[in-house]
Amino acid sequence: MPQPQPIVIPTEPIGSIPRPLDLIRKMAQGDSEDPTLASLYEDAVRDTIARFEATGSPVITDGEQRKYHDFCTYCVSGLPNTAPNGFTIPFSDGHARRLPQLIRGPFRYRRYADSYLDVAMRYAHVPVKQAVISPSALSLMYQADSIQDYPREQFIADLLREHEIEIRRCLQKGAHKVQVDFTEGRLAVKIDPSGHLLNSFIELNNLVLSRFSPEERKRIGVHTCPGSDLDSTHSADVDYAELLPSLFELKAGHFYVALAGERDRPQVLNIVRKYLKPDQRVFVGVISPIDPHVETPEEVQERVLEASEYIPIRQLGTTDDCGFAPFSDDTSTSRDTAFAKIRARVLGTQSAARLIGARP
Ligand SMILES: [Zn+2]
Repeated sequence: MPQPQPIVIPTEPIGSIPRPLDLIRKMAQGDSEDPTLASLYEDAVRDTIARFEATGSPVITDGEQRKYHDFCTYCVSGLPNTAPNGFTIPFSDGHARRLPQLIRGPFRYRRYADSYLDVAMRYAHVPVKQAVISPSALSLMYQADSIQDYPREQFIADLLREHEIEIRRCLQKGAHKVQVDFTEGRLAVKIDPSGHLLNSFIELNNLVLSRFSPEERKRIGVHTCPGSDLDSTHSADVDYAELLPSLFELKAGHFYVALAGERDRPQVLNIVRKYLKPDQRVFVGVISPIDPHVETPEEVQERVLEASEYIPIRQLGTTDDCGFAPFSDDTSTSRDTAFAKIRARVLGTQSAARLIGARP
């Protein structure tokens, strides 16, 4: 009798791991690019990758140890043609984060994320994925109606080109996946309930995604979540029904969707089932980084089995709801807790796959 093929449910992290406390302290003292910090960054990346691999995670990241200040502005931090008083992201606990504002053209990245990948791949023994920020998030840096001698159209053209370069460099260097962080998708619905802002974000991001071949898009994913900083969110009150139908219009092969922290997971899974396209895979969040409780493998297994009732197995994967410290100074979660949660994700996903594979 032929043996049934074992089922594999892919599982991937989002990106960030809390930085070591001594690195955070040193970063707070001054210039993030101070050469004396180089060895601390290097140690942080090496230790993060070793601990990541020890969880058994089949795909890892560098924990974004060098993304300063955060997942969004790492590529523009330190640009001389910006001012600090840009777009404000308000979180539900009352704190806020701000983007820099562009004050002069031309717009160029100061660094591309493939420079992080170079370092990570020196240490890693398993596939490494790389997260990059979406053009729609960075489009919020052009706040004025217009900047002298630098019209918005030129800014958008420059922005899209920089983002395309960044993705291509990461793909060429062998990133397992390139994940576009699109945390502002759900926030867009909160800012503009008419949906116009969200639609403009989707259109903008698709302008770049459509420059990639179908083959390349199989290695490109998009992450959405309600935000995650200091154990707080920015748009969890926005109904996913307002976001997900548009989200799956993005020309990407993979979607990393925060789900563990949702109040009504079956409702969300129903929407995903309805709008996910046949050539797309959804990685559902089974770990909540902002919940201090460390999920057990059994809890994760239950969440995977629940998702498998809605999503075909060949289109299902698991992930964390978000990074564990998208902003570099966030110490609300410890490194130990982050890795314990990742380990539960890996074990719970594997055991769910075994159970599903054993079904008659
Ligand atoms: Zn996120």
